[in-house]
Amino acid sequence: MAIDSSNPSDFIRAIVARDLDAGKHGGRVVTRFPPEPNGYLHIGHAKSICLNFGIAQEHPGAVCHLRFDDTNPTKESMEYVQAIQEDVHWLGFDWKDRMFYASDYFEPLYRHAVELIGKGLAYVDSLGPDEIRAYRGTLTEPGKDSPFRSRSREENRDLFAKMRGGEFPDGAHVLRAKIDMASPNINLRDPILYRIRHVAHYRTGSAWCIYPTYDYAHPISDAIEGITHSICTLEFEDHRPLYDWVLEHVVGSDHPQQIEFARLSLSHTVMSKRKLLELVEQKHVGGWDDPRLPTLKGLRRRGYTPDTIRAFCEHIGVAKRDAVVEMALLEHFIREDLNRRAARVMAVLRPLRIVIENYPDDQTEELEAVNNPEDPGMGTRMVPFSRVVYIEQDDFREHPPKKFFRLSPGQEVRLRYAYIIKCIGVVRDERTGEIVELRCTYDSTTRSGSQEGRKVKGTVHWVSAAHAVPAEVRLYDSLLRADTTKDDEDRDWQASLNPKSLERLTSCLVEPSLGGATPGARYQFERQGYFCVDPDSAAGTLVFNRTVPLRDSWAKIEKAQGDK
Ligand code: ATP
Ligand code: MG
Repeated sequence: MAIDSSNPSDFIRAIVARDLDAGKHGGRVVTRFPPEPNGYLHIGHAKSICLNFGIAQEHPGAVCHLRFDDTNPTKESMEYVQAIQEDVHWLGFDWKDRMFYASDYFEPLYRHAVELIGKGLAYVDSLGPDEIRAYRGTLTEPGKDSPFRSRSREENRDLFAKMRGGEFPDGAHVLRAKIDMASPNINLRDPILYRIRHVAHYRTGSAWCIYPTYDYAHPISDAIEGITHSICTLEFEDHRPLYDWVLEHVVGSDHPQQIEFARLSLSHTVMSKRKLLELVEQKHVGGWDDPRLPTLKGLRRRGYTPDTIRAFCEHIGVAKRDAVVEMALLEHFIREDLNRRAARVMAVLRPLRIVIENYPDDQTEELEAVNNPEDPGMGTRMVPFSRVVYIEQDDFREHPPKKFFRLSPGQEVRLRYAYIIKCIGVVRDERTGEIVELRCTYDSTTRSGSQEGRKVKGTVHWVSAAHAVPAEVRLYDSLLRADTTKDDEDRDWQASLNPKSLERLTSCLVEPSLGGATPGARYQFERQGYFCVDPDSAAGTLVFNRTVPLRDSWAKIEKAQGDK
């Protein structure tokens, strides 16, 4: 896909276009997506993936690398490496043969550190972690030099080699850059480059007991791979001088350029990996692919399509200022997408039994139903109708309020694709008095598609009792309660969890055409919402996830904004 480079859609694409015009980086464009394999990808990562892989698709010869930023041994694993690859592919992007691991650079990273020591630009510090913090100063006060700052190059080289050799316990020494303890930018106050950690790494095993910090490993990894534009989120803006310092002293002035953009935050959910991991480990949710989570695996299981997520990321765009995006906007995008692609079917979630007294006991009719009025190409299907049907409990009221155009005693309603029926009586549970069945009659002259004759105000969906397929339906609400504020979240985010985020309905009935539905298949349940077959389904027990209800609260928000 080529874009008009004279009219880039955001400031990062403008920088890339300008650099290309100026012949910077020899006319190359190389980006990277650098996840740390310590969790599953979420929709925030999708924004970064769409940006990095998207830019690479827009220029001939440009490429995007997938790099596992795996320099912290304690939380990383191959499980995450695999899940991340699956998710990037699912989103529709491909790194071809350009998959890298920062852990493959441990040796050159070490060598460059030794070079920095040789140039007098790095030293081994033997202060403890608390002292290092105290010496660092604050935003308003400068730091002070460590007494070990003036160690000789020989001594530093020797100590650093012994650090690598495993001669010291964790925390005994660190390697620091020698920059400026009085810098107004705290990141430049002799930042730590290496720590001792006697922990096995999921790829390098016990080969190393010192590990580089992000601020040291990231710029050099970018340089090793020939990255031209190193795109990251805003919290790294203050680290950019350090990124440049490392590269200027390791590779010289022609080096990758770091560019920051605002991370995606979504309302009513959590996106930090720490919080997601807590939810999974403490079993607040069923796993990383729980449909309530904003992880790509969760969204996929919920019924989201990769197209929707890409369209959403494109719509929200890339900017320099942090903002929270309403979850309703994401839901608006999935509705738009599924409205076009999902077949409409009838499903009754909370069934109420109806006996149509004047309909022959032994008769079944096959009624033609439209699969998607938005797309005639999706054709029609036949839906069986018989004497006993189920409708939604909500579609009947014994004492209807004004403007209730559904069924009530003495009133008529149309059964979608079928006949007009009239309620002539109710059957109650003898013990509780609860209505358990309606007695109705039908008007045989009103079959849909025939002259239809009379009109009634309400149409309801239904399933035939003799033909319906039982199903479980899982309804989801937002992960955090609707009234959660940022302050609540900062204080005690788990207290903001919505206790009603999952409701399981186990006696649902769906029309027989869904009998063979396979996991991942998406439908619109007429009048209710979009639903997707869950992998928990087995032969005879269909399970559906509600992707999103039909009601479009984003359209409402937009309308309210327009009305102001
Ligand atoms: P943590 O939650 O531990 O801070 P992270 O979300 O930064 O981790 P990484 O694996 O380091 O996770 O992220 C990989 C890339 O995705 C980084 O370049 C990061 O900037 C980007 N990224 C992460 N979260 C978001 C987000 N919410 N919006 C946009 N980009 C994001
Ligand atoms: Mg990160």
